[in-house]
Amino acid sequence: MADKAKKPAQQKRQGQERTAGRDAKPAAADGSKARGRAPEARRRGRPDRAPKAKAEAKRGAPVRIVFLGGLGEIGRNCACIEVDGRILVLDCGIMFPDPDMPGVDLVLPDFSYLKENEDRVDGIVLTHGHEDHTGGLAFLLRDLSAPIYGSELTVGLASNRIREAGLLEKTTLVAVRDGERRRIGPCDVEFIPVTHSVPHAFALAFHTPQGVVLHSGDFKLDLQPVDGRRTDLARMGALAENPGIRLLLADSTNAEEPGFTPSESTVGETLRQLFAARAGRRVIVACFASHIHRVQQIVDAAAANGRQVAFLGRSMLNNVELSRSLGLLSIDDGVVVDVDDIGKLDGGKICVISTGSQGEPMSALSLMAVGENKRVQIEPDDVVMISAHPIPGNEWSVGRVIDQLHRRGAEVIHSGKAPVHVSGHARQGELRTLLAVTRPDAFVPVHGEYRHMVHHAQLAVSMGVPSDQVVLCEDGDVVSLDESGLRRDGSVPAGYLYVDGTVGDVGHGVLRDRRMLADEGVVMVVANVDLHSTQVVGTPRVITRGWVHETEAEDLLEEAAMVVSEALAKAMADGARDTEILSRAVRRSLGALVSERTRRRPLIIPVVLAV
Ligand SMILES: [Zn+2]
Ligand SMILES: [Zn+2]
Repeated sequence: MADKAKKPAQQKRQGQERTAGRDAKPAAADGSKARGRAPEARRRGRPDRAPKAKAEAKRGAPVRIVFLGGLGEIGRNCACIEVDGRILVLDCGIMFPDPDMPGVDLVLPDFSYLKENEDRVDGIVLTHGHEDHTGGLAFLLRDLSAPIYGSELTVGLASNRIREAGLLEKTTLVAVRDGERRRIGPCDVEFIPVTHSVPHAFALAFHTPQGVVLHSGDFKLDLQPVDGRRTDLARMGALAENPGIRLLLADSTNAEEPGFTPSESTVGETLRQLFAARAGRRVIVACFASHIHRVQQIVDAAAANGRQVAFLGRSMLNNVELSRSLGLLSIDDGVVVDVDDIGKLDGGKICVISTGSQGEPMSALSLMAVGENKRVQIEPDDVVMISAHPIPGNEWSVGRVIDQLHRRGAEVIHSGKAPVHVSGHARQGELRTLLAVTRPDAFVPVHGEYRHMVHHAQLAVSMGVPSDQVVLCEDGDVVSLDESGLRRDGSVPAGYLYVDGTVGDVGHGVLRDRRMLADEGVVMVVANVDLHSTQVVGTPRVITRGWVHETEAEDLLEEAAMVVSEALAKAMADGARDTEILSRAVRRSLGALVSERTRRRPLIIPVVLAV
């Protein structure tokens, strides 16, 4: 890393602060020898890549990439690719709230940058149909309109929420085919097939004046995918050869996991065995409603064991219908039975395929677990399979559902007990493979929590990407790609935009209050004062929720009223004539008492009225 000293001061500083390569020890093995050379010559394993120098000479406008979400959290993926002042939006997802966001329904990317530059947005391209990539569209489209491009299934899945928001009529959805290359706004976009936990996902190659910027989308390298549609590594390799890949942005979700993610088709085999071993008993399987290949495998395993299937849950029914109409899900009509008719059939001949694998409170499985599902009641002989892994933050909810199912006597099979689930994201072996095939000049890890991106950045350096060209970004960061390479280029607002019924009403201040209310409760005091006679009128009224239980703590509340009364009298005797100042005196005196007696710090709301 000695040659780092030759870099401009600013770049060096960035390297120390945020370029992951600093800590990525394995880099030296491959990268150090090459690093002193000119950018076009330093590519490991391909010293003969001379034509690139010519291409560079012709390059035009720089490419700016603005990260609006998904870097530092799982969810709300959104970025902008900008050339010549024109903007392409890449995905627009939601994030599900953390437990420390009470009352929040969803979290969106901060759209203020896009709103301010609305007239520059030429289109929105989607990698795949998951909600963390498409769920925000229904909100973004209220503020700007642009055509949306994605696979037929992706735009079909995305349209559900857009329709619910009443925006479908004024939205142009464009379905693109595998391998298609299209001019969209400032660049050619090539849609390259990848395997993931929803069918017809894409990596996107942006053909820009600076060369190819490749975004992996969410992906894994499944060599035996259920539909036979593999990640098109050959095409990526061809792009790497000619014209070369200037910048790779890739999915970091499983960057901490060594090895390779098993093929989706392994789950089918597990399911068949589990079904066979539980002949004669009713089986209920929960999975993601968008995981069409999983649904296919559950259907196949059930049918192979002489069972009919019934679908349960609104999104499951919607997605099954959509996928069947697109020919992505093949189910014989005779295999499907309406869930309302399963009571008439022998349990051993039935498989219910349900939503709720994440323990979502109002989902079909959660309602079954507490005996409140109108259609399916859990019986002691039932087998419930949860064919999913809880996404971070949902572990507790899923655990509770599993526990409640046990209380009802069901046997529960989840990913901790049997391999009924595999991830849709690439592990280290696959991430290394992608880096080896694409041989990018520069790399930015995306889609992950911070630690995932750090590990992915280290992986890239160890695979030979020059460490000063591996840039660890977070939400709001902007990078620029030009002839000299990739560099940071400022930042834009990218905070959380909370949705609680409406968008944007709930800010950090509101959440802080909610957390305080949840943790410590609230004490409200209403006191009347006569500012002329400087007397407290009547006894102040102390009302509380969540501090002490009022009926059990009458003495304490009376004492609190007294303390407040005394504090007000003293403040007025000292000359205070302003209700604002008197309120402060109330808060101080009551705060002291509350803390001394209960060692708590509830929210104190003084209301002093001058009569
Ligand atoms: Zn995904
Ligand atoms: Zn994702």
